[in-house]
Amino acid sequence: MRHFAVVGSGPGGFYTAEALNKAYGDGARVDIIDRYPVPYGLVRFGVAPDHQSLKAVSKRYDTTAETAGVDFIGNVTVGRDVSIAELLDLYDAVVLAIGAPHDRKLGIPGEDLPGVIGSAAFVGWYNGHPEFADLAPPLGGTHAAVIGNGNVALDCARILSKTRGELEGGDIVNHALDALEKSPIRTVTVLGRRGPLQISMTPKELGELGHIEAATPVVDSADFPGVEADEALEPGQRKSVSLLREYAANGPDPSKATRMVFDFYAKPLRIEGDGKAEKIIVERTKLDENARAVGTGETYEVPASVVISSIGYSTPPMEGVPYDVRGGKFLNENGKIADRLYCVGWARRGPSGTIGTNRPDGYEVAAQIEAAMAPGTAGDRTGAGGLKALLSARDVMPTDYDDWRRIEQTESANARPGSPREKFVRVEDWMKAVGR
Ligand code: NAP
Repeated sequence: MRHFAVVGSGPGGFYTAEALNKAYGDGARVDIIDRYPVPYGLVRFGVAPDHQSLKAVSKRYDTTAETAGVDFIGNVTVGRDVSIAELLDLYDAVVLAIGAPHDRKLGIPGEDLPGVIGSAAFVGWYNGHPEFADLAPPLGGTHAAVIGNGNVALDCARILSKTRGELEGGDIVNHALDALEKSPIRTVTVLGRRGPLQISMTPKELGELGHIEAATPVVDSADFPGVEADEALEPGQRKSVSLLREYAANGPDPSKATRMVFDFYAKPLRIEGDGKAEKIIVERTKLDENARAVGTGETYEVPASVVISSIGYSTPPMEGVPYDVRGGKFLNENGKIADRLYCVGWARRGPSGTIGTNRPDGYEVAAQIEAAMAPGTAGDRTGAGGLKALLSARDVMPTDYDDWRRIEQTESANARPGSPREKFVRVEDWMKAVGR
């Protein structure tokens, strides 16, 4: 029997477990370990609550979790409750699928002022991530700004712009729904350091902006090069740019009170305010021949009492695991970190791609493990048995598949009408729900 540990239960972790299970069948046990009592990582804490259809992928993960030979071990923080070295003693192979939960820093003055929030924190707050349950973002002003031109920036801007009616059918947590409903924010400026042709936003997500009940996109036609420039773009990007061109040509809908202003060629220099964020000082940029943003020296102010910095994520370093500081991920070669130690997903590649991009990652690493220890060969590791003994000696109380299901049932039962669930936002509440 082989024993494999997959650390992290987001898409990368589940696809790896699925692939290992397919490769080894009942010749291996795969333990998916997560620091929280419930699984799904990015799908639970990252995917926007008004994008429920994207969360349907979790049904596939459920099938994996229900398979004999795959176990969920929650409420265990690797690196605190058990080390990587210990896991490598207990398991034949360890796969790190911990994602990229940390916000990249802007590295500009004023970034630490109250009111400046990373997108991981803001998204975590509205998605019921326990680490951000007490974030209480200051939403009491009329102006907000989001820095970055990726899909996460778009998620944040959209959530700030939607009405309660538009949000409450999703699984946004009540504390966020109430705070957003009360917020008088009527201008959300989305700052991109480059131009509309350099955005990292996808067409479906951009297309939604034309249908928000009380908010309208504001895009300036003067920001675009001639339409022939779009020919060089790949089709998806061309579609995104056409949508922006359309918003610019139509102009903002005057009947809608909230404006989502796309401010391109805008590089934040510093954030200023009297003890809290009040405005961003921005430098106008132009593109050089390699489409990089170059400052022009012209500066202006963008008022914002809440600033959400959405410029990408990084994987936290772990003791004993070589780390690529520049890339913000584990040092690895095609997913291999060291003998019997692997990584997948954003911890391997950095924070890019869709949920589905993680599937080939998981399968590729499973194939490497298969090549290193052929199915049918025996190992002498103790796997979950040894891990549970070690955790018990340390007073760590892991949750299992049944606990997770009980938590899910309670969350569904607690949901407001029309919403799939009301998530617990504190680990204590999860544990109370399973009688611990
Ligand atoms: P992203 O797509 O890499 O976008 C990051 C953005 O931040 C880029 O516009 C980048 O601009 C900008 N940026 C980086 N450093 C900056 C700085 N110092 N100052 C100003 N701007 C800066 O990352 P993301 O939005 O976090 O998304 C992560 C991944 O998740 C992406 O693959 C995304 O598509 C995916 N995602 C998908 C969905 C969906 O499908 N619905 C939803 C959310 C996320 P430059 O281009 O100039 O570097």
